[in-house]
Amino acid sequence: MSAEKPRPLEGGCLCGGVRYRITGPRRHVVCCHCENCRRTHGHYAAYTALRREHLEMLADSTLSWYHDVSPDTRRGFCRRCGASLFWDAGDGRGKISVSAGSLDDSGELETVGHIFVSEAGCYYRIDDDLPCHEHGSGGAFESDAGC
Ligand SMILES: [Zn+2]
Ligand SMILES: [Zn+2]
Repeated sequence: MSAEKPRPLEGGCLCGGVRYRITGPRRHVVCCHCENCRRTHGHYAAYTALRREHLEMLADSTLSWYHDVSPDTRRGFCRRCGASLFWDAGDGRGKISVSAGSLDDSGELETVGHIFVSEAGCYYRIDDDLPCHEHGSGGAFESDAGC
């Protein structure tokens, strides 16, 4: 694997109040079917993940955080247009998940699997051949860069 720094990727919410740049390595996209993701995304969530120091905020005037599980776990969203953008486990591992759908250009990223399929909605089927995990993946999708 190349140790070359990947090119930056930028993204943001629908209204432009939140804009960000990913400046370092990022994990391929994992779809989370948990009930909390479904409720806030309106469907299942598709997230890349990266080291928090590689997420540079370019605009955050409308960014708000919602704590859905514990005081440490938080979901970043735009309070103006409603976009769901970030998920922060708050577990001290220094990683943050970013909604793949909010990227301007998803670069080299591709979907690699599904988690929390035990909580998937009844109205759709997961019919690709990618690995599925009943609950979390236990780090199975983590990249060499630790994200
Ligand atoms: Zn917005
Ligand atoms: Zn989830």
